[in-house]
Amino acid sequence: MSILNESLAGRLSDIGRSGAAHASDSTAPEDNLSYVRGGVHPPLRYKTIPQLLRDAVSLFGPREAIVCPQQGIRLSYYEFDRAVDELASGFLAMGLTKGDRIGIWSPNRYEWVLTQFATARIGLVLVNINPAYRLSELEYALNKVACKALVTARAFKTSNYLEMLRTLAPEIESCEPGRLQAARLPHLRAVIVLGGAEEPGLFGFDRVRTLGGPAQQLRLPAIDAELGPDDAINIQFTSGTTGHPKGATLSHYNIVNNARFVTDRIALTENDRLCIPVPLYHCFGMVMGVLGAVSKGAAMVFPGEAFDPLATLAALEAERCTAVYGVPTMFVAMLEELDRSPRNLTQLRTGIMAGAPCPVEVMHRVMDRMHMREVTICYGMTETSPVSFQSFTDDPVDKRCETVGRVHPHLEVKIVDDDGRIVPVGVRGELCTRGYSVMKGYWGEPERTAEAIRDGWMHTGDLAVFDEQGFCSIVGRVKDMIIRGGENVYPREVEEFLFTHPKVSEVQVFGVPDDRYGEEICAWVVAKPGASLDADELRAFCNGQIAHFKIPRHFKLIDALPMTITGKPQKFIMRERMVEMLKSAGQAT
Ligand code: AMP
Repeated sequence: MSILNESLAGRLSDIGRSGAAHASDSTAPEDNLSYVRGGVHPPLRYKTIPQLLRDAVSLFGPREAIVCPQQGIRLSYYEFDRAVDELASGFLAMGLTKGDRIGIWSPNRYEWVLTQFATARIGLVLVNINPAYRLSELEYALNKVACKALVTARAFKTSNYLEMLRTLAPEIESCEPGRLQAARLPHLRAVIVLGGAEEPGLFGFDRVRTLGGPAQQLRLPAIDAELGPDDAINIQFTSGTTGHPKGATLSHYNIVNNARFVTDRIALTENDRLCIPVPLYHCFGMVMGVLGAVSKGAAMVFPGEAFDPLATLAALEAERCTAVYGVPTMFVAMLEELDRSPRNLTQLRTGIMAGAPCPVEVMHRVMDRMHMREVTICYGMTETSPVSFQSFTDDPVDKRCETVGRVHPHLEVKIVDDDGRIVPVGVRGELCTRGYSVMKGYWGEPERTAEAIRDGWMHTGDLAVFDEQGFCSIVGRVKDMIIRGGENVYPREVEEFLFTHPKVSEVQVFGVPDDRYGEEICAWVVAKPGASLDADELRAFCNGQIAHFKIPRHFKLIDALPMTITGKPQKFIMRERMVEMLKSAGQAT
C-alpha cells in the first residue's frame, strides 16, 4: 500500500497524539434544557478506512497489530497490511467491484478482520451477518441488500453454516465457484468458505488470497483514489422486537470518526493492547474495537471465536492486555471466574462496558478486582456508528459508574417528551442524536429511515435524563416502561436495587399484563454461583426499601437469562414465557 504524501504531523494528530480527549471539550446543558453539544476537539477527519490503516502502518508498521492466540496468529501492522492487499486483489480477481455487497457470516476469527479491511480497500460494502442467524434470517439478509458474495465459516456452536447454505441454495453442489445461480438467493454468485478442504461450488478463503496477481495489485491505487469517505462501506442488521431486521448503512466517515473518538476517551495509544472478546459482527467489535485500535496503532487481541470468561482472562494475562471491552454480562462472568481462579491482571488499565445497562455494582467491582481504574461506559446504537456518550477516564467514580458519561465530540443530543419538545434538565424523555455519526439510512427502506431520522435527528427509542453537568443516564426503553395501576415504573430502577442484594448475579425486570393493575411487575433473577436464593428472600429484601408498587409481584429464579449474543437481554422473550407460565399456573394475568 503506498503511503500518502501527508505530513507526519497531520497523521500523528489523526492517530490521537494531539492529546487525549478532555472533559472541558464537552458542553453542559444551557438554560436548564436537555440539549447538549459535543466539543470540536479532536477535529473530524474526512478519511476512508484504507487511509486509517495506511496511517497506522506508516507510523507503527513493525508493531503488533493483531493476535489470535487460538488460531496461532500474530502479525505486525506491516504484515497485516500486506495480507489485506493480497485478499483485496483476490476479491478483484473474482470480479467484485466497488459498491458490491459482500456478506460475512462467521464468529470472531482473524479472517473476519482481514475481510473487513480487504473489502474496504476496494470499496466493497461489508454486510455483517449475525452468527446466530438461521435459514430464514440469512435468506432475508442476503436478499435484502443483494449480496453478491458471502464469506462464511463452516460451522459454529450448533449452527452448521454450510449445511444451511446448501439447503437454501442446493445449486451450489453443481455450480462452478463464483457462478452460482440459485432460485432462493438470486443475487449471490460466490461463496467463500473459511478453512478446511476445497469443496464443490465453493471458493476456499485461502485460495481467494492467492487469486490476485500483479494485474490486480496494480489496480489498487486507482481504486483507492475513487473511494470517498461518504461512500457506504458497512451494513449491520439491527433487530427490532417486531418486523424484519433493518440494514443500518454506515459510511467510512461515520465509523472512522466514531472509532477515533471512542479510543480517544480511554486514552489508547500504540503502547496499549486491547482485548476484544465482543462480537465482530457488531459495532462494538468492528468499530469500537478494530477501527478504534487501528486509529491509535494499538495491538488487538482476540481471545476466541465467542466470548468465554476463562479464555478471555487467560488472554488478558498472557498477552498483558491493558484494555478490554465487554457488555455487562461478560464482566459479570469474568468477575465470577476470577473469584474461582485469581489471575494477575495488574497491567489492565482501562476498557469499555456498554451495550446494555451497566449495573453500578459491577462497575465498582471491575475497577477494583480487574484493576480497570480507568474503565469507561459507552452508550450508543448501531444507527449512530455507534457511540454518542462516554465517560472520561478521569470523571469522578460515581459519575463513571452511575451515568453513561458525557456527549461525544461533534454531536448534538436532545431529550424530548412525547410531543417532541425538549424537556428540562432532570426530566426523562427520548434521547435523539444528530451529527456526523448518524447512519446513511436503512438499506432499501426509505420509510423506516424517515421514521427514525427526522430533521437529521436519530430517534433512539431510549429513555434518558441529563444532570446539570451534562452527564447522561439511560433509564429504560421508551416502550419498556411499566405502568402499574397508573404508576410509572422504570425497570432499570428496580433492577439496580435488586442488584444490591449480595446473592444476585443478574436480574431483569419487565411488565406482564394484569387484569387488576393493567400491568404487574416481574423480575427474573440469576443467583450467584453456589448461592441459594428464593422469591421470599427477594421480596423481604424489597419490603420497606422501595415503594410497594415497584416491588415485583412475580419473582422467578432462573439459571440463565435469554440474551442476544451481544449481551442484550431479550425482555420480550422473558415476557412471553412468563405470560405462558402464569397462564398454566392458573394465575390471572
Ligand atoms: P445496538 O444497536 O445493538 O448497539 O443496540 C443499541 C441499544 O443498546 C441502545 O438503543 C440501548 O437501548 C442499548 N444500550 C447501549 N449501550 C447502553 C448503555 N450503556 N446503557 C443502557 N443501554 C445501552
